[in-house]
Amino acid sequence: MSSDPNCIFCKIVAGQIPSRKVHEDEELLVFHDINPWAPVHVLIVPRVHVASLAATGPEHEALLGRMLTLAPKLMQQLGVTNGFRVVVNTGRDGGQEVDHLHVHVMGGPRPWLKG
Ligand code: 5GP
Ligand code: ZN
Repeated sequence: MSSDPNCIFCKIVAGQIPSRKVHEDEELLVFHDINPWAPVHVLIVPRVHVASLAATGPEHEALLGRMLTLAPKLMQQLGVTNGFRVVVNTGRDGGQEVDHLHVHVMGGPRPWLKG
């Protein structure tokens, strides 16, 4: 399944729900989190529906590599110069609320709301 009609991030990828985009390419979409914890808080989301990090396999190695290597480029682009935090909440006990794989990237001057 490459897209899930009930998934909020699939709807954002499809343009059915608006988002504040910061980057898009063939595989990935990046947009600002609607409820930011930090002055800069973006979500790196694959266009394809993958439920979580726990649902990834060898076929996702390149995708995961691209998601992670994009993070520092985005932070530089968004003016974050003093470090950033990368989080992948996975599963219920991991605090995952949206069941579509995503990488949180947070930065900007502290204090932050959370994290
Ligand atoms: P999780 O807890 O699954 O790791 O994180 C999901 C994140 O998605 C949360 O930080 C939440 O604020 C964000 N989020 C949920 N719904 C929307 C939405 O409709 N638009 C945007 N931009 N972010 C969302
Ligand atoms: Zn999805």
